[in-house]
Amino acid sequence: LSAENSESAQAASKAKSMFLATMSHEIRTPLNGIIGAVDLLNQTNLSEEQARRALTIRRCGHALLAVINDILDFSNLDAKGFVCQLARVALPKMADILSDIFQNRVADAGLTFEINVPSIRVVTDDVRVRQILLNLVGNAIKFTPHGTINLDISLLDRDVLRVEVKDSGIGIPREDQSKLFQDFSQIENSASRRFGGSGLGLAISKRIVTGLGGTIGVESDTGKGSTFWFEIPVSSVEVYVAPPPKLHSDKAKEN
Ligand code: ADP
Repeated sequence: LSAENSESAQAASKAKSMFLATMSHEIRTPLNGIIGAVDLLNQTNLSEEQARRALTIRRCGHALLAVINDILDFSNLDAKGFVCQLARVALPKMADILSDIFQNRVADAGLTFEINVPSIRVVTDDVRVRQILLNLVGNAIKFTPHGTINLDISLLDRDVLRVEVKDSGIGIPREDQSKLFQDFSQIENSASRRFGGSGLGLAISKRIVTGLGGTIGVESDTGKGSTFWFEIPVSSVEVYVAPPPKLHSDKAKEN
């Protein structure tokens, strides 16, 4: 009987995930239309008040899109399982992409973003690793009123990549830390209320890290900042030599 029960529970959970995946996909398409239309509206002659209202629509649209994307990701992971796509990844290049993505948000928040990355190339699922880092660095920015965010990547034992995202922010009370990495779980504080969010970012990150065969964790305390870290096995580690930056004269020769 219990085997039957667990089978039907699994089927129900899969049906729920399929429903969430379909719904979030369906909501995303018109939502992108709304955001696109308001962007076009912004390029027209608007009064100050109209521009302010259009900005509110845009901000809310993006906040809703982030929640929908999380739900879509989460339910896809649940319904379809974790599919790993390995590629050779130059870590300094990945770090550059992240630095570009976060440049404006970090500057707007008056924070400093420091990255420490070894000059190596490894084989891993770069899209997924980047997705985890988007969550962790995004959170670090949200919950750090001032100071620095550090992204430190290092190689342990030749085939384990350790990634740390350290912030000097509000930190997480010890008694709340057991709620982290759980589905739809947020910790009550003013920043969570202000920024909204789905409470899925860390749950998704944990699923990805587990799918990659690794572990994820946190060290933090109230007012002492947080260090979110994960370790994943990687293969084919080799030295990466960045190509020299192109000079003007090289470009002229090419043309
Ligand atoms: P959300 O998308 O709602 O932020 P997450 O799963 O990413 O959900 O995070 C869950 C909760 O963990 C957040 O609401 C916040 O309370 C806490 N948290 C996550 N990262 C940090 C951090 N760097 N500093 C302080 N609190 C954090």
